[in-house]
Amino acid sequence: MLNSPPALENLVQELSKLPSIGRKTARRLAFHLLSGDREKMESLADALTQAKDKIVHCSRCYGFSESEICQICENPRRDEGILCVVERASDILPFENSGIHKGLYFVLGGVLSPLDGIKPESLHIPELIKRIEQENTRELILALGSSPEAESTALYIDRVLANSQVRRTRLARGIPVGSELEFIDDITMLRAFEERVKI
Ligand SMILES: [Zn+2]
Repeated sequence: MLNSPPALENLVQELSKLPSIGRKTARRLAFHLLSGDREKMESLADALTQAKDKIVHCSRCYGFSESEICQICENPRRDEGILCVVERASDILPFENSGIHKGLYFVLGGVLSPLDGIKPESLHIPELIKRIEQENTRELILALGSSPEAESTALYIDRVLANSQVRRTRLARGIPVGSELEFIDDITMLRAFEERVKI
């Protein structure tokens, strides 16, 4: 955008940093925001500020929360014995939407990728192992998606827990290869969950 005001260029730059937003889309969004009324832009800015100020990671599961412990971890009706391990906080959503999982969650914060320098300590793997040792976890559902890195992360955790009594399971293969967990439809999710298999 030649000769565009610096503030507009800055907005386009920031928007284009968001996932799956290319420069063209970023420009379209920026123009859309600027051509709308000021109030709408202010409420978007407010929502961003509030999210930044209020949302933290739950100290127990590392999911998103507005308090130190999230509502799921705090709910006494959830089964503490079943822990569903996911890559990212957003992966909790499809499970909650389908209502299939009655246990708790644990967010790893990514998957192992030695080439990118992502080692077990870079993720919440040490915290996961510690939690399993301290609590009465009966089953660990490794719901890590189907990328090669996710596969090797699941196998790594399984190996670390080789001598533990905790049952390790994974979602059944019904998930299209390469798809992200958050885009799975409810039916596929239900089937993959109910037909989960022992690692
Ligand atoms: Zn939590």
